[in-house]
Amino acid sequence: MSKKYLIIILIFFTFNILAALAFYQQKTIQSPRVTFLNVGQGDAALIEIGNDMQILIDGGDGKNILDKLGEHMSFYDRKIELVILTHPDKDHMGGLIEILKYYEVEQILETGIICETAICQEWDKLIEEKNISVKYAQFGQRIKAGNIKMTVLYPFENLQDKKAENDNESSIILRIDTENDSYLLTGDSGFKTEKKLIDENINIKAKVIKISHHGSKNATSNEFLRLVNPQKAVVSVGKNSYGHPAQELLNRLKNMNVAIFRTDEEGDVIFE
Ligand SMILES: [Zn+2]
Repeated sequence: MSKKYLIIILIFFTFNILAALAFYQQKTIQSPRVTFLNVGQGDAALIEIGNDMQILIDGGDGKNILDKLGEHMSFYDRKIELVILTHPDKDHMGGLIEILKYYEVEQILETGIICETAICQEWDKLIEEKNISVKYAQFGQRIKAGNIKMTVLYPFENLQDKKAENDNESSIILRIDTENDSYLLTGDSGFKTEKKLIDENINIKAKVIKISHHGSKNATSNEFLRLVNPQKAVVSVGKNSYGHPAQELLNRLKNMNVAIFRTDEEGDVIFE
């Protein structure tokens, strides 16, 4: 057989294998799928809508996130439609720097608070270099993607170029509604922001809550929990010296009969 025919046959088989793999992945992904990724001490949540639309909320710290997306996304999909940075702390933002380097990101949603750390400078530089469109989060914004609806519940006002008293308390808080489920993602916000949401009578009720600040004792108050009224709670946490998750917090959840899913114990926590 001539070399030319051999190459043609090889290309034909490779193409078939790739097509079969793509078909297999298409068959296995339920939509939408919400995954709280085990990225160690930090936060990262991936929302997949169909096979080729992804929303990534925070990215943990470091390169972990690249392996995680490698596990969950098709190898030929190098695009993330929306990246949300809840607040510019390393355990949420570090991994997103890697994402900006190695993936095509269509849109970013962030608060835009003043941040002059080295990591923020790198973030701004990458956004400019890659010409990524940025929107600034504000209460009431809605994002519709396929069969999911996301609503920004906090910050109440546009914080672009404003100085935040406390990074954690400036976190974007999101509510995600799918056909059958609802999720509340609170970044690293604490009692102070929770109280603002309660005082303003914001609808925070959700079936699943991503527990704030890796299970800190200074977040997720009893009053807040009662209003969210969740069935399930996800604690995104890894090895740390802060005492996360705090026993006080775990007790609050147990007292309300909320099922607890910890990324350090269960690995990726998937809802579909
Ligand atoms: Zn954090």
